[in-house]
Amino acid sequence: MGLSLPLSTGVPMLSVHPKGKQKGCAGCNRKIKDRYLLKALDKYWHEDCLKCACCDCRLGEVGSTLYTKANLILCRRDYLRLFGTTGNCAACSKLIPAFEMVMRARDNVYHLDCFACQLCNQRFCVGDKFFLKNNMILCQMDYEEGQLNGSFESQAQ
Ligand SMILES: [Zn+2]
Ligand SMILES: [Zn+2]
Ligand SMILES: [Zn+2]
Ligand SMILES: [Zn+2]
Repeated sequence: MGLSLPLSTGVPMLSVHPKGKQKGCAGCNRKIKDRYLLKALDKYWHEDCLKCACCDCRLGEVGSTLYTKANLILCRRDYLRLFGTTGNCAACSKLIPAFEMVMRARDNVYHLDCFACQLCNQRFCVGDKFFLKNNMILCQMDYEEGQLNGSFESQAQ
């Protein structure tokens, strides 16, 4: 099993009434005069200023947790997309980061580079047929050859 990121890295956001001295917003540096402000990462923010660095959504509206990584503030969706994983490649069994394009065949995922006939290494183009046999990806030629030679395990039904 590869490592996957713990999701407990979420940072809580609190919607609070400002009290006492007006706070400065960590996003725009202006004073916060709103009825509510957000408190997160030990700083204060306008509700409008605490946004996901990727999709620009207002984090106070999508949940009560934000995610940070490498100085970015992100919503859960983008955090997972950027730093999560899709699963292990069925061909090379290495972990595939979530932002990478993958090929899927049934329940398997593959790196684009790994998605090739596992007998002749032919890569597939859009529209090409591929076959999944004994959990191996095969091109049409190798698949049909295997069928003819009966080299595949019992082809029940
Ligand atoms: Zn602000
Ligand atoms: Zn986002
Ligand atoms: Zn791979
Ligand atoms: Zn082949």
